[in-house]
Amino acid sequence: IFAGEADFMWAANSLKNLPPQSKVEIAFAGRSNVGKSSLVNALTGRNTLARTSHTPGRTQQLNFFDIGGHFHLVDMPGYGYAAVEKEKVQAWTKLIHDYLRGRASLARVYVLIDSRHGIKPVDAAVLDGLDTAAVSYQIVLTKADELKKGEIEKCIADTAQKIAKRPAAFPEIMPTSSRSGDGIPELRANIARLLHE
Ligand code: GDP
Repeated sequence: IFAGEADFMWAANSLKNLPPQSKVEIAFAGRSNVGKSSLVNALTGRNTLARTSHTPGRTQQLNFFDIGGHFHLVDMPGYGYAAVEKEKVQAWTKLIHDYLRGRASLARVYVLIDSRHGIKPVDAAVLDGLDTAAVSYQIVLTKADELKKGEIEKCIADTAQKIAKRPAAFPEIMPTSSRSGDGIPELRANIARLLHE
């Protein structure tokens, strides 16, 4: 699935300019600095995607990538970045909310959580939104290389407990590290299974 091309396809900063729902969409969300660009790059084996997303002006929109013609990867704007003015936060919260609510082609949102920090209130607010919109999501822990094995196991257990009663959460939690490559094949396989369901 990830062997082919990964092309920047579309950027949307309003509901009016979302691309047609021609393929299954899989979205990635997380706090700014959680390691989303690095993870997307590690998954796709390309650096171009992150560069696109970090281009000023493109950071606050939904970026769509065509992955080998198999599915569309949606890079969602990072949240919880304190320096962004309130107005902008509201505009982009609304975009995300509207997108999540009305998108039939969206199969799953992978919500990235820094394994050193676990689920923070700002993450919990995003999970609340996903639960309310009944959008299926799954937690991916990032930067697992920063922790010892026992600490990762603890983070997985704590996180599992925090999402246990959340209606739209997929129970399996995936530890990953873009730096070491740990968990990347598992995440790829997870996505592949999702596409074949
Ligand atoms: P984004 O803002 O969520 O797109 O995050 P980036 O991918 O740009 O990464 C933010 C910071 O975290 C950078 O300094 C990266 O080098 C670092 N980072 C990203 N992935 C990893 C990882 O797997 N392990 C470690 N230790 N650091 C990482």
